[in-house]
Amino acid sequence: MKEKRILLIGTGGTIASEMGGSGLKPELTSEQLLRYIPDISNICETECIQLFSLDSTNIQPSHWVHIAATIQEHYREYDGFVVSHGTDTMAYTAAALSYLIQGIPKPIVLTGAQKPIGFETTDSKMNLRDAFTVATSDMPGVMLVFNGKIIMGTRARKTRSKSFEAFSSINYPLLGMVQDGRIIRYIRPESRAVPQFYGALDPKVALLKLVPGIDCGVAEYLLERNSALIIESFGVGGLPAYEAGNYYETVKRGLDTGKTVVMTTQVENEGSDLAVYHVGNSIKQNLPILEAYDMTTEAVTAKLMWILGQTKDPAWVAELFYTPIACDILAGN
Ligand code: ASP
Repeated sequence: MKEKRILLIGTGGTIASEMGGSGLKPELTSEQLLRYIPDISNICETECIQLFSLDSTNIQPSHWVHIAATIQEHYREYDGFVVSHGTDTMAYTAAALSYLIQGIPKPIVLTGAQKPIGFETTDSKMNLRDAFTVATSDMPGVMLVFNGKIIMGTRARKTRSKSFEAFSSINYPLLGMVQDGRIIRYIRPESRAVPQFYGALDPKVALLKLVPGIDCGVAEYLLERNSALIIESFGVGGLPAYEAGNYYETVKRGLDTGKTVVMTTQVENEGSDLAVYHVGNSIKQNLPILEAYDMTTEAVTAKLMWILGQTKDPAWVAELFYTPIACDILAGN
């Protein structure tokens, strides 16, 4: 059988970091990473591209577009793609690639590590090997592979800042596990024969996490300067209304000037349901806000950037927002 050809795209992160005088910094190229796992040649043929060497704190939407364009450029040459990436914003990149590259029948696997590949104790080698195992499989779409878990690109979140078990799948089952180099598959995501690539994002999406007593001037400021505002509210969702914070009026003004407002929750699991309480229901009934339901904030952010890169027409924005893409939102919410 012909060996599969996989492209490793290096972007930096802890996995590629070395210790310097001021802490860990990405220094290694994707080619240097591969030298740590020479046995990978037993499972596939590899080639490398180093796109950037960034701590993922410094990744911006323009980098997502660059990664997607690189995959598009090399789409025909390879059977799968591994993107090595810092863990801090990897969930955002995974979500963004899920919107920029839709329906792809080949695997795009993001991975990284909590400890650099050159350290004696490291999760880098296992994560990289597992990523290549998934990239050589017939599992389609954008996925994040970490500590044995295979997570849908739109459902990943970094839930631990230090330990190897860094990522969780939010409001959606794992796609599978990798154990001792073998994939145990639970779900096979759908794909199309031909992928659709996009190249435009509107990065002007802001996120506001509410705290009790927060002044609504913060929301006003963010709405003025952005195309969309995501409000992470409490519980199943609602907007505060007190002296310093009449959010209803602030949000209404933003919507009246053509801005998009999405309500979501700061609670990690089970999503929003604005209809339940008066504090949510009253705004849902009266204002054309959108609601995240079971989507992650990472996916909402990337989806809005993708949508607003194409249209600012509120009806279209709403239509696209509620259309499930890469299993990001349960249909019929
Ligand atoms: N700060 C690092 C990054 O996101 C953390 C990591 O990769 O684990 O690039």
